[in-house]
Amino acid sequence: MHETAVVMGLLDILERKATEHGVGRIVSVKVVLGRLRGLDPRQIVGAFEIFSEGTRAEGARLIVEEVVPTARCRGCGTVFAVEGWSIACPSCGGEDAETVSGRELHIAEFEAAAADGPHENANGSSGEGG
Ligand SMILES: [Zn+2]
Repeated sequence: MHETAVVMGLLDILERKATEHGVGRIVSVKVVLGRLRGLDPRQIVGAFEIFSEGTRAEGARLIVEEVVPTARCRGCGTVFAVEGWSIACPSCGGEDAETVSGRELHIAEFEAAAADGPHENANGSSGEGG
């Protein structure tokens, strides 16, 4: 399962970033994922929920932003969306193209809650005016 390894890596990075920035809890994470990676976003979210337990990212919302693969034709320079595994330029029919996008896998951004100040609301203000 590639998804598991990917999530472990992400959590590792998040932990380090959280330490760097001195954040106590991670609320949400946005990950950019190229389709050429062949990973299932739903499985990544599922694995994240399991493996984030006990880390600062526990309970965080994971958003996976998929990137459609595109390639640039070396012959005519046309950039086109890649469908399936065949890379053929729709403009000139050439098959010599370089991948432009679709291999992404990184954390785009994450939202964190402050380390100090527990979210406790001990504010019992119930008064009955008689
Ligand atoms: Zn072309």
